[in-house]
Amino acid sequence: MSRKVCWSRVLHCDREAADRRASLCLAVLSLFLLIGWGCTAPEPAITDAKDALAMLQAGNARFARGAELHPHTDAIRRHELAQHGQHPYAAIVGCSDSRVPVEIVFDQGLGDLFVIRVAGNVIATDEAGTIEYAVEHMQIPLVIVLGHSNCGAVTAVVNGSHEHGSVLRLVEHIRPAVDQVRSRHPTLSEEKLIPLAVEQNVLHSMEDLISQSGVVREALNAGRMQLVGAVYDIDTALVRWLGPHPDQAQLLDSPITPSTEH
Ligand SMILES: [Zn+2]
Repeated sequence: MSRKVCWSRVLHCDREAADRRASLCLAVLSLFLLIGWGCTAPEPAITDAKDALAMLQAGNARFARGAELHPHTDAIRRHELAQHGQHPYAAIVGCSDSRVPVEIVFDQGLGDLFVIRVAGNVIATDEAGTIEYAVEHMQIPLVIVLGHSNCGAVTAVVNGSHEHGSVLRLVEHIRPAVDQVRSRHPTLSEEKLIPLAVEQNVLHSMEDLISQSGVVREALNAGRMQLVGAVYDIDTALVRWLGPHPDQAQLLDSPITPSTEH
């Protein structure tokens, strides 16, 4: 009797062990499939400007309402990018302002965005060259120039701050936009002029890019890429989309101008 009970226990124990082994195998298999999938099948790159814009709009809406997904930040993503290279779907020229970290405000992760940050989101030789690399070598379908509210660089030009050295050369890229807005609204206070100058400065940077870059012109003419302006509100976190430059067709027809140094 005692022997029979003992066998029954042994059989019971064997069944438990087999169940545990089966569960473990299933877990290992799932992990293997998960990691294996990440290694061998990277997400397809977004090749359409409309899809790229929709991704950015959705990400910014998530960030503004505090519902971020923080995508593409884990070890699987890092490994995938290291193995298969980067395929960012948008290039963004934004300001260096610490309140406008591009990946955060669009709730994007590693390998999603090709970002150029410079005070006043100006476009000179280096910025144009970086965008050309993105368009030519990574076939990025969407380029954004992103200004922002309360921009210190634009405010400095509106207020007529006396800059010197390299800062002076940098703000010279912003001055035409400020002069344009001021001539349109000669009686407006500086405080009210600043948001208009921020928007005009975005358009001016887009104009500089089209004027200077043959690669960008070719991509725009061929419909391989879109260039869109936007302004980020540092308080509400919402991005206001300006669309393509209103004079894009004329700019594409005008003679190319040599790029300028900062
Ligand atoms: Zn700024």
